[in-house]
Amino acid sequence: MQCVFDSKRLKAMINRLTRLNVKKLTPYSSARNEFEGKASVFLDANESPFNNNLNRYPDPFSKALRNAWGELQGVNSSNVIAGNGSDEIIDLLMRAFCEPKQDSIITCPPTYGLYRVLASINGLKVAEVPLINFEPDVDGLFNAVGKLLFICSPNNPTGNAISIDFVMRLCDTFNGIVVVDEAYIDFSNNESSAKLVTRIKNLVVVQTMSKAWGLAGIRMGFGIANEEIIKVLDKIKPPYNVNSLTQQYALKAINQYEQKNEWVKSTLRQRNIVAASLNSIDCVNQVFPSEANFLLVKFQEAKAVFDFLVKRGIVVRNRSTVPGCENCLRITIGTAVENAQLINALKDYKS
Ligand SMILES: *Cc1c(COP(=O)(O)O)cnc(C)c1O
Repeated sequence: MQCVFDSKRLKAMINRLTRLNVKKLTPYSSARNEFEGKASVFLDANESPFNNNLNRYPDPFSKALRNAWGELQGVNSSNVIAGNGSDEIIDLLMRAFCEPKQDSIITCPPTYGLYRVLASINGLKVAEVPLINFEPDVDGLFNAVGKLLFICSPNNPTGNAISIDFVMRLCDTFNGIVVVDEAYIDFSNNESSAKLVTRIKNLVVVQTMSKAWGLAGIRMGFGIANEEIIKVLDKIKPPYNVNSLTQQYALKAINQYEQKNEWVKSTLRQRNIVAASLNSIDCVNQVFPSEANFLLVKFQEAKAVFDFLVKRGIVVRNRSTVPGCENCLRITIGTAVENAQLINALKDYKS
């Protein structure tokens, strides 16, 4: 794929945005990093010679995975970084580009709570541009100033998504990096923004295998961006951030992506069924439209419904204390059997 940036301007942008200590940093160079030839006797990394294969450190750059994921997303492997969950990618972005006690990130609440927590851990200010009726505040965002702007699409917990056109307009006006968190993109009618990274220099797309791929347990996430941004993230990532078992498992899953597509289809069918059933239940006020693997549902008394469900052994996410989500529960779409249990329990609920 052709990269159409003016490389001087791209480098100037990276230079302006990168945290000072990161610019000055001499990165750690691991044994696996420094030797790049062919060999059969590895006495360079103080590994054990025993315990076949797992005695060796993993590939620090997850090259096979980056290739496979890049191919899947229609970008080069040089546009991909692999992380220990997408949460690690989000943390790396803050550490690479934001100066503690000085810089801000921008979020659009109600949204994924981890952006704020990671910002706090990194000593960053959070400027909020709240959603209006669950939609982006266009004027607010076009006037926002900060290093990183986090857009979650489809958004957790509201379930709705924004268009690629809007992503492009945001990148055009924002003076920092726009981060689009696509954890739920497989369940959406909207296209992924991943391919845009070869044209838009201040865009990072974050993806994960934790949701549609059914692999939350292996911790596998990706960042997609232009090569210069990826280079900065590679400079500061923990040397062996993705372990061998995860690399192997993730690669195997990518090679069988049809399975993921089947699971997504099933979840979408179930999402429709659950939404329709919920709409016919008395204690339900509103089922919000969803492009994700969950439904945000407004009840007359969310907390009482939550407690009632727990007594029946069913756990959902209580979002009713989140500003903008008053009286709302976030309900993940499960198997047909699990969903039927949920619906049957709710039918028994008497206020
Ligand atoms: C679930 C979720 C993630 C996934 O994080 P991982 O670290 O990859 O498991 C990322 N972003 C959002 C908005 C999520 O809801």
